[in-house]
Amino acid sequence: MESATNTKPHFVLFPWTGTISHVIPMTDLGCLLASHGADVTIVTTPVNAAIAQGRVGRALGITVTAIPFPGADAGLPEGCERLDLIRSPADVPLFFAANNAHGEAVARHCIHEAPRRPSCVISGMCQTWALGVARDLGVPCYVFHGFGAFAMLCIERLYEHRPHEAAASPDERFDVPDLPPPLQCRGLTTRQLPPHFMPPASVGGKALQGMREFDLAADGIVVNTFEELERGSAALLAEATGKNVVAVGSVALCRSPSPGLDPVSMSDDARRCMAWLDGKEPRSVVYVSFGSAGRMPPAQLMQLGMALVSCASPVLWIIKGADSLPGDVKEWLRENTDGDGEASSKCLVVRGWAPQVAILAHPAVGGFMTHCGWGSTLEAVAAGVPMATWPFFAEQFINERFVVDVLGIGVSVGVTKPTENVFTAANAGGGGEAAAEVVGMEQVKKTLEALMDQGPEGEERRKKAQELKLKAKGALEEGGSSYNNLESLIQSFA
Ligand code: UDP
Repeated sequence: MESATNTKPHFVLFPWTGTISHVIPMTDLGCLLASHGADVTIVTTPVNAAIAQGRVGRALGITVTAIPFPGADAGLPEGCERLDLIRSPADVPLFFAANNAHGEAVARHCIHEAPRRPSCVISGMCQTWALGVARDLGVPCYVFHGFGAFAMLCIERLYEHRPHEAAASPDERFDVPDLPPPLQCRGLTTRQLPPHFMPPASVGGKALQGMREFDLAADGIVVNTFEELERGSAALLAEATGKNVVAVGSVALCRSPSPGLDPVSMSDDARRCMAWLDGKEPRSVVYVSFGSAGRMPPAQLMQLGMALVSCASPVLWIIKGADSLPGDVKEWLRENTDGDGEASSKCLVVRGWAPQVAILAHPAVGGFMTHCGWGSTLEAVAAGVPMATWPFFAEQFINERFVVDVLGIGVSVGVTKPTENVFTAANAGGGGEAAAEVVGMEQVKKTLEALMDQGPEGEERRKKAQELKLKAKGALEEGGSSYNNLESLIQSFA
């Protein structure tokens, strides 16, 4: 029932449940909106609600609502509420079917049971059912992709000009057209394009077509970025789409200090990371992590590992899916790296969840080897840390061009093909051609040396990264661009 007294704008957020890296920034977005005086309700699945609730803590004005995920009805195991929890790539279509059924349950809740009507719905990119919910409630529907504005602008230009259709092979290079300087995205290949351009008949292709229709119908786009970072991309995206584009980031800066760093609630892995970093010289450590779920084929992981243990810098290396590595790789890791976090050790491997925002903010970290997920990219920018770029898939090859060529704060590892992921594996029946490329140890080592270089080039990258760090902070301070954009968004529903 509607409260007669509560006139605050009420935002209802539906994070894309498929990956934790969408739940995290949408929860942070909710916290930012609440800190600007709006009421916020985050509606998601029980497994993801626990994560969201952990981040929200006791913040005022924000509620997390869990609606059961009908995974079992679609043939998924109990608790399988994200793509990183599926048994095999064959479960991808089941997951999307369950996500749609979840949307029906969420719609019933929001339309018939929720205590308060939203002023505006903000939906993750795969929650295409959100549009129907918003239309039934008679409120606007904004979409949150988790991508940066530059990547989304490139995607719009690719839809419009289709340069990839003229490419003679998946590896022929082309530029993304119609980007004014300093924006540029050069030498992309069809293989490196985001899944938006997968054939419609492929696994996931149909869902992606639905997402495009959802994008075109949405009333606006909320972007985790700040205007100064993406050099006019947000305004160009607004022009290209005809939609209100609202830059509100970096959302990870909504909390300080991170709740993950409360010494009481800190996990053992987090504690080990931070204690190990405390023993290292300022800006001496390379932090290596490939997002919430990024996994390399074992042969590639070995090449990376050999580069990491033999490079001059101390390394903090986060490995996902370590349990399923072959025995000989596990053995090699045990013998050549350190799992206990002794202060003197050279390469600390963490097999669980790392407190990434806090790690990047630690004074000992001097470089970040990243898969260029937008969340990680923006967190590195906000911490003023230069990057070595190793894109895996999705829009990450575009993000790499942005970090290296536009911002000048990255060194490319030189990866040319995507790493196998749930979509490529599902389409290739489990063994994709994309998995064939192995980047050699020497190539990785050279990149790390360039990243940590103390000469003028390295210094220039560090200087630019520090300048962006200050701009990121300023954007969320009173009167800053993201601060003002949040205020305007909220005021438009007051
Ligand atoms: N992350 C983290 N600890 C980890 C791995 C990832 O905190 O051990 C967080 C990271 O800080 C970021 C998100 O997970 O907020 C990863 O998002 P990104 O967009 O970079 O990559 P994705 O996981 O979507 O590939």
